[in-house]
Amino acid sequence: MTTNLLDLDLDALAAFCERLGEKRFRATQLFRWIHQRGASDFDQMSDLAKSLREKLKGCAHVTGLTAISEHVSADGTVKWLFDVGGGNAVETVFIPEDDRGTLCISSQAGCAVGCRFCSTGHQGFSRNLTTGEIVAQLWQAEHVLRQRRGDGERVISNVVMMGMGEPLQNYSALVPALRVMLDDHGYGLSRRRVTVSTSGVVPMMDRLGQDCPVALAVSLHAPNDALRDNLVPLNRKYPLQELLAACRRYLDHAPRDFITFEYCMLDGVNDQPEHALELIALVHRRAADGGVSCKFNLIPFNPFPASGLRRSPAAAVSAFAQLLSDAGIVTTVRKTRGDDIDAACGQLAGDVKDRTRVGERMARLRTITIKPVA
Ligand code: SAH
Ligand code: SF4
Repeated sequence: MTTNLLDLDLDALAAFCERLGEKRFRATQLFRWIHQRGASDFDQMSDLAKSLREKLKGCAHVTGLTAISEHVSADGTVKWLFDVGGGNAVETVFIPEDDRGTLCISSQAGCAVGCRFCSTGHQGFSRNLTTGEIVAQLWQAEHVLRQRRGDGERVISNVVMMGMGEPLQNYSALVPALRVMLDDHGYGLSRRRVTVSTSGVVPMMDRLGQDCPVALAVSLHAPNDALRDNLVPLNRKYPLQELLAACRRYLDHAPRDFITFEYCMLDGVNDQPEHALELIALVHRRAADGGVSCKFNLIPFNPFPASGLRRSPAAAVSAFAQLLSDAGIVTTVRKTRGDDIDAACGQLAGDVKDRTRVGERMARLRTITIKPVA
């Protein structure tokens, strides 16, 4: 079996090249060809000696994922469904904005956490993605979109690990993938522009702080343990006070001086003024008393059929945001992007085992305008 070079961060590629009798700078050249120029054919890599190219052909390859579909929303959001074998598929979403291009990447096929409001969670866990499968989502999106634009400019400026799966439950594949994103010879993204979102896997938050402290978003969704136990089952293992303590520890390493708390707004469940007040009391004390420096990102719930939950009315969301802001907590409401192509938060299912559902979704998708990216 030959090695897929998308599986390797630069140190691992250097070790790989060393085993072929090559110096580290050759690995750097190879890495730049792959990630900065999107090359997969060794013969294209003109500044590598022919002998090395021949050696590589015998033991390595650069292989991305097979796209099952690609849809472009009216607002420019692009969603790919990628086949990862065994009847599983994962979704990747590109969100263009005026000043940045954000790629939302999946870390697992399915998810074992099983949050009540999340379509991926309802689907259950299939398997962890490999480093190469995580990196391939960025590699493909960047180079496909760049080629389409045709100006040679970088397209993706930010990455959020907010697609399908719990990234901190796939830690050993995640960290090398993050290193490829951060590497100056790779995508050169700063630590502030790469965000890992977690439902609160406390021990792995500590490890991430040590190994690769990128920006952290924590999916809070509830101001007390009783409600959070119900919405995010992982809370039974790592309850709120432990989670907040881990957030405070992470801040010693984080590239920003705050943690982003995500809060999915569910009608009548967690969106009442008393919930906002309880949240303020929870996070807004002095650190010594259990508080944590944070911002809030309120996400209006994106419904899917099996959830039995409803999106909070806009007035409830703005009243909630106002209460947090009045208490001095910077609060934003996430704009829903790409909902005409089911690309919004929590709508990523990507399960091709369930042909009927996918068939239904595809039928709906076919009704939207598919246009080339400008
Ligand atoms: N597993 C990680 C990252 C993926 S989910 C996590 O839970 O943080 C990314 C964000 O989308 C999380 O904050 C998640 O709670 C939120 N989300 C999930 N389902 C949603 C839905 N149906 N509507 C709105 N947001 C949702
Ligand atoms: Fe998993 Fe995140 Fe969905 Fe919860 S919200 S089920 S942790 S992907």
